[in-house]
Amino acid sequence: STAIVLASRPTGAPGPENFRTEEIEIEAPLDGEVSLRVLYLSLDPYMRGRMSDAKSYAEPVPVGGVMEGETVCEVMQSKNPGFKEGDIVRAMTGWRTHANMDARRVKQVNTYGAPASTALGVLGMPGFTAYGGMKVIGQPKSGETVVVAAASGPVGSLVGQLAMRVGARAVGIAGGRDKCDYVKNELGFDAVVDHRSPDFASELAGLCPKGIDVYFENVGGHVWDAVLPLLNLYARVPVCGLIAQYNGPVIGEQDRLPATVSAILRRSLLLRGFINTEFVPTHYEAFQQELGPLVASGEIKYREDVVDGLENAPEAFIGMLRGSNFGKLLVRVS
Ligand code: NDP
Repeated sequence: STAIVLASRPTGAPGPENFRTEEIEIEAPLDGEVSLRVLYLSLDPYMRGRMSDAKSYAEPVPVGGVMEGETVCEVMQSKNPGFKEGDIVRAMTGWRTHANMDARRVKQVNTYGAPASTALGVLGMPGFTAYGGMKVIGQPKSGETVVVAAASGPVGSLVGQLAMRVGARAVGIAGGRDKCDYVKNELGFDAVVDHRSPDFASELAGLCPKGIDVYFENVGGHVWDAVLPLLNLYARVPVCGLIAQYNGPVIGEQDRLPATVSAILRRSLLLRGFINTEFVPTHYEAFQQELGPLVASGEIKYREDVVDGLENAPEAFIGMLRGSNFGKLLVRVS
């Protein structure tokens, strides 16, 4: 089997030199294990965190270790009664073509008839992140204004659609013309703005004449600067991701803390960070049951950006951190 390992830890933006391809021999599965052939690998922003040894909510990938990642796989051989050959499952195999896994760490895929790849996107971890963050923290109400950035991606696209389903106004922020057109015309957001526009902050203000009640934070950086003055009294901010700063500090940026804390005080804001796994015990089942049929029927829309071949995973991942993906980024491994 082929695997991609962490060759070295990046400083700043990762490059191809931080990854290395290795051949790993796969033996027959032991009792209780399943032998898997990877179909799709999910590439996600959190992987930048695993490449770093800075203290975080999860352990880093060791240098020389296989890059962490969730995959959708076909069971080739099973030594566990819960799985049989041909089952389509998801597992944290990492960036590799084949793996033997303890069956207790493998889950059957149920996408209600939608393609199995959605188990890594809209019906998987990113979709659940949108669902959990909105249900528990955002709590949008009819008539409110909800703003989300990375709006064409798997988290942001569902945040906006969930907002509209309760009668809130969804305003998306995305990078570039194509993504903005998609968010407005295909996803049906009420409005969209390009964060690369020189007038981004004033355009966003113009699209939120009644202020912002829920800002689902995916980005940080200059997007947060534009959002902060628009947040209403009692606005809720699920702090989900800060992709603008995953590659490290941006030279010349000011300290945002004083303005942020002052706004929290004066406008009674709720900023609440979360990692989606926190909500799994209480909300995952409801998420699958509610969203599965809506995705399968096409009522909830999603977009996938599929790259062919495991060897192309590093380049695709590096690009995602600058916004070169358009939709949920997946690698078709076999
Ligand atoms: P996406 O597929 O949307 O990809 C990331 C997108 O972020 C890029 O396409 C780009 O979109 C945007 N982006 C990148 N850099 C910048 C920047 N400097 N300024 C503004 N936008 C930028 O990712 P996901 O939907 O998978 O994830 C969205 C966010 O949610 C991430 O921050 C991720 O870390 C977080 N997350 C958090 C989880 C949790 O449990 N808390 C779980 C899953 C995801 P564009 O071109 O439109 O700007």
